[in-house]
Amino acid sequence: MAQQDAPAPGLTEIKSIGVIGAGQMGSGIAHVCALAGYDVKISDVSAEAAKKAINIITKNMDRQVKREKISEADKQAALKRISTGTGLEMFADSDIVIEAASENEEVKREIFKALCPMLKPSAIICSNTSSISITRLASVTDRPAKFMGMHFMNPVPLMQLVELIRGIATDEPTFETVRQLSDRLGKTTATAEDFPAFIVNRILLPMINEAVYTLYEGVGSVASIDTAMKLGANHPMGPLELADFIGLDTCLSIMSVLYDGLADSKYRPCPLLVKYVEAGWLGKKVGRGFYDYSTDTPVPTR
Ligand code: NAD
Repeated sequence: MAQQDAPAPGLTEIKSIGVIGAGQMGSGIAHVCALAGYDVKISDVSAEAAKKAINIITKNMDRQVKREKISEADKQAALKRISTGTGLEMFADSDIVIEAASENEEVKREIFKALCPMLKPSAIICSNTSSISITRLASVTDRPAKFMGMHFMNPVPLMQLVELIRGIATDEPTFETVRQLSDRLGKTTATAEDFPAFIVNRILLPMINEAVYTLYEGVGSVASIDTAMKLGANHPMGPLELADFIGLDTCLSIMSVLYDGLADSKYRPCPLLVKYVEAGWLGKKVGRGFYDYSTDTPVPTR
């Protein structure tokens, strides 16, 4: 059957979930899918990242066992359901593939082009992109009707929201299956239209970018900016701490999508953010961003 004639699977037909990208988000998505009882395959270009993902998932599940959120048996069963690799052929029997590779449109387009011939005709493809046009990503696939945005929040096991984004061609059965799957994973959904950075990051990232400008212009230090926003605006994390947590490369990519997509100078990425990314200071995942993470207590760098 040609893929355009194959209807999207209903929720009960979803058994096997593929995840592309084994970074912070890919490992979190695999974690919640495996705990919900799905077979999960994770693929990354880097074999090391794929291996690291299993260690991270195990550590995070250990924490859940300790807090009595799950049992040791749940953990063992979930870990058994996860396998990793570096190719895309491993997704031949996946019912849905969730892409969570780096926030770079070219990288994602190449992944989707290579992925489609590997998939069964009915498989749904979702992107966890934080900002990139779902319609544009869908256009490089052979199945725009079965393609949509499924935007998890970081850290996935803890954060309640999944933002759902339809591309212009996404069909209703696909949307409904992904909405029900999100419910099944214990998440709450909010639907956004396909505009740059959707809802959460359209609002959050300009605030983070403004915090970096505040640092750049010397209005406050890293510690004073984060303390001010935690205690003055009741935010659980300061904006610079949050930027480090998201990843400064991801923050810069999202600001660039907003700047290019909405053509408004108010979204100009702060030059200091650009410099940090150029320096490879990408935040917590590499051990240095606005804070230095080489010791137990993060130390502000400015
Ligand atoms: P990350 O840098 O932690 O991980 C990205 C992973 O993608 C890396 O392991 C990298 O090796 C892999 N990768 C790169 N090119 C690849 C390819 N061609 N094939 C397979 N794997 C490839 O990034 P992340 O924070 O996990 O973000 C992943 C996606 O999730 C991005 O689209 C990002 O915007 C989105 N997202 C991030 C956050 C966040 O807070 N970090 C929140 C929501 C959504």
